[in-house]
Amino acid sequence: IRIYANPIKLEKTKNLGILLVIQDLTQIRKLENIRRDFVSNVTHELKTPLTSIRGFVDTLKNGAINDEVVAKRFLDIIDIESERLYLLIQDILSLSEIESKQNEKNVGFYNLSEVIFEVVDLLKPKLKDSQLEIKVDIENDMPEFKCNKDRIKQLLINLVDNAIKYTEKGHIIIKTNYSNEHFIIEVEDTGIGIEKEHIPRLFERFYRVDRGRSRKQGGTGLGLSIVKHIVELYDGLIKVESRVGEGTRFIIRLPEKK
Ligand code: ADP
Repeated sequence: IRIYANPIKLEKTKNLGILLVIQDLTQIRKLENIRRDFVSNVTHELKTPLTSIRGFVDTLKNGAINDEVVAKRFLDIIDIESERLYLLIQDILSLSEIESKQNEKNVGFYNLSEVIFEVVDLLKPKLKDSQLEIKVDIENDMPEFKCNKDRIKQLLINLVDNAIKYTEKGHIIIKTNYSNEHFIIEVEDTGIGIEKEHIPRLFERFYRVDRGRSRKQGGTGLGLSIVKHIVELYDGLIKVESRVGEGTRFIIRLPEKK
């Protein structure tokens, strides 16, 4: 709390009293801390792949390039790490773009089922020959949803991509229906699940339950934070239900806009 006190005077002589201004800085400090943490996290996240790239380039220049097998392995690592950097920068840019938005541009009426099928087609190649299947369950005759299609597509990509990353076998179900002037979207998987204690922090930037696992899967740690921002941009709500070893379900409720 910050307090200012100023005497209120009339014609420089008479003292009328004191003006007290009491400012609650909790929220401002909280935002400052969030911003500071974000900058230091971003710096760390960018530095890790970059340090690795520079290290391998140096080693190659110092002679490793002459051994074809070793050189190929190092180049593969450089390739993976630069892809990581690229994805991370893309996610940071998306997040700041969504954050700065008050009103959405390029808004139109879209069929959610169309968007869902586009996302499934896009992500299906990631399933490869695993024992994982994507199912879709869409209510008939749903009204169209007023949105920026790219934004809703990104939300779905992030959720389904996570479901694929954190599920070894079984299925992923993407459901949507409309009730009481709200669109409900659910993404459910039969994956590793999330322990209760992690759920409240899941949407924080760079929060991961298992850092090593996320890194191995090529995660940036920003996917769910982007999802949450998009949901908030559309005045919606997001909920997570999960059981360790059984699976996870993300439920999104978006109010209809006319
Ligand atoms: P990441 O890039 O690490 O996947 P996200 O922000 O998308 O970052 O997710 C944050 C963390 O939440 C992940 O690191 C993972 O631990 C957990 N998580 C997200 N989705 C799922 C899921 N479907 N099943 C299990 N864990 C998940």
